[in-house]
Order: sequence, then structure tokens, then C-alpha cells
Amino acid sequence: MAKRDYYEVLGVSRNATEDEIKKAYRKLARKYHPDMNPDNKEEAAEKFKEVHEAYEVLSNPEKRARYDQFGHAGVNGGATGGPGFDFGGFRDFGSFGGFGDLFDVFFGEGPFSQQRSSGPERGADLQMSIDIKFEEAAFGVERNVKIHRWEDCEQCHGTGAAPGTKPVTCPTCGGTGQIRVTRSIAFGQFQTIRTCDRCHGEGKVIEVPCSACHGKGKVRRLRTVKIKVPAGVDTGSVLRLAGEGELGIRGGPPGDLFVTIRVQPHKIFKRQEDDVICEIPISFVQAALGDEIEVPTLEGPINFKIPEGTQPGAVFHLRGKGIPHLQGYGRGDQIIKVNVMIPTRLTDKQKELLRKFEDTARPEQYQSRKGFFEKMRDAFMG
Ligand SMILES: [Zn+2]
Ligand SMILES: [Zn+2]
Repeated sequence: MAKRDYYEVLGVSRNATEDEIKKAYRKLARKYHPDMNPDNKEEAAEKFKEVHEAYEVLSNPEKRARYDQFGHAGVNGGATGGPGFDFGGFRDFGSFGGFGDLFDVFFGEGPFSQQRSSGPERGADLQMSIDIKFEEAAFGVERNVKIHRWEDCEQCHGTGAAPGTKPVTCPTCGGTGQIRVTRSIAFGQFQTIRTCDRCHGEGKVIEVPCSACHGKGKVRRLRTVKIKVPAGVDTGSVLRLAGEGELGIRGGPPGDLFVTIRVQPHKIFKRQEDDVICEIPISFVQAALGDEIEVPTLEGPINFKIPEGTQPGAVFHLRGKGIPHLQGYGRGDQIIKVNVMIPTRLTDKQKELLRKFEDTARPEQYQSRKGFFEKMRDAFMG
């Protein structure tokens, strides 16, 4: 049978992007996977081979260029299908270019396609971030978050083998997960050891993959994790939830979940380390005469006495009314910054009162003004 055009096989145009080619391949690989076609495995396998071959060429820029120029002849026929690619019988399913690679096709990059050694391995860490309110950062909060992680497939209990079957010892490496290659050189031999590419170092291969997890042994599950955010966190704080990451592999411990905190800005409070800053507008009369005003704090409003003669920009500390220290005991302060407001749109009566007041005021009653005039005299009159 004449070979079909590779672009035609994948159903893409001749100027398809790498991404389009990959997508088409994934779709067709899934469609013709023998496992998906239990009633006519042989035919599906032929199709799969054809699709795989087309992808092998078109996904490689160099091979693709040669194919574009010379057709099938340019890529050496491409008919070999690559090593270990044999559909002679479906017992031999493990040689399918390696299950790991196939899983990449089916699932994208999963955490398991990278595993290549045979000892227990710690699960991967997971990361996420959450937004919390200003007050929640100050006093702590509990949150339930949802996050995906891979968990053992219930149908095969994590083995990846269809119910009633078991993974079998890898015939290529005899279960060691490694292959020794001995080469003769001029003065003797040398040996290299590489990971078995059939079982990817696992030592076992799956003959009949579990249909629920496609042989992976794991399924992606959405979990709810309770996060206790401690009092005193700030934007950028990272919480580590030990053991809430991906599960370990071959009995290894699970990874951790790292949660990055983002604190939403507050309408009136600003944060400076563990101090809470609050700007309070007061009238120039309140500043001059002093007054008792209501001041918001994290725990609700309190009464605060502004002293007589308070200057613009004056700063007062409410000790221990700030944010609890994340490390250790105690809390920061609340800092009150006084913003003295000057009235506008005065009535004639008010203007008259103020002029009368000004006539009675002496320069030394204005602290900074007095200082300024002294400096001016020094500067200009020597
Ligand atoms: Zn399963
Ligand atoms: Zn092996």
C-alpha cells in the first residue's frame, strides 16, 4: 500500500505550526490507541503506527524540511517506525515507545512521566496563592482551598494494571530497570549502564493498562485543604503545609504545599512592617485647642485625645494596637498621622473672626514660624 502523505495523515495543512501538529497527533493518538478500540485492535494499531510515524517526522524541524523537499524518500522511508515500536502482539504493549512517552501524549506533562529511578521518591511540592483581607492578615484566618493532586487510582489501587492483572517484570531489563551496554574499544571493553527505556527504570511493565487511569496508576483529584493562616502574615508570606503536596512515589513521603499570601489593601489602614498607619483629618481649630476624637483601630473605634497645639503631620503611637508579630510575641503599634485641614469657602463672619484672632496672635505662638523667621534673619542679615 502506498504511503499516505504525512500532513494528510495528521489532517493538518502543509504550513501547520508545531503546536497544531502536536495537537492533531494527540487527538489521533488517543483515537487510534488500541486500548480505545478493543473491538478492532489490529486495525487501530495500524492507524496508530501511521499517525505516530507522521508525527515523528513532522514534529522534527529537520526531518520535516527534508520531507517537504523530498517526500517519503527524504526521510529514509520513515517506515522503521523507530526502535521498540512493535505491534506484533498486544501482549507486548509495554514496548510502545515506552509508556511514559505515551502518557505524555495523553496527559501532557504529568509528574510521573519524569520518574526514572526505582527507589522511593518524595512527592513533588505544590504551589498556590490566596488573597486575604487586611484584618485577616492581622488576626489570622482559616480557609478551605481546592487544589488538584494526583492520587492512587481506585480501580487499580495504584498499580496501573487492569483489575485482575498485575504489572509484570520487565522482559527487557529483567526487572533491574537498567541496561548494561558493553562496547569493545581498542584496548579492551567498557561498560555503560543506562535506564531501561522500556520500563523507564521501574523494572515492571504493564501489559493491560487500567482503563480508569490508562495505566498511570494515578488520577488527578480535586482536594479540599484547610489552611490556617497565622496572625501577622503579610503579602509575600509563604506558608508551608507539610505533606499536602503530591503523594510520594514507591513509598516515598509526600511533598509539601506552599501557599503564598496576598493581602488586599485596606481603605484606611496602611501597613509598615507590623505597624498600622492611619491618617486622620482634624480641623485647625481641633489642632490648636486639642480635642477628643474617635479613631478606628483594627479592633474597632476608640477615643483618642489630641493634645492642644498639635502640629500638622504630628504622629502618635497607640502601643500594641498594630499587627501581631508573626515570629514571637507582642504586636506592632498603630500610628496616627494627623492631617490638619484648613477650611475653605469661609463666610464674611468667619473671616472677620479670624482676622481678629490674627491681630491678637504673637509670633512666638507659632513654633515653626518663629524658627523660620530666625533662620531668615541669620541667612540674610548675617
Ligand atoms: Zn487505574
Ligand atoms: Zn526494564
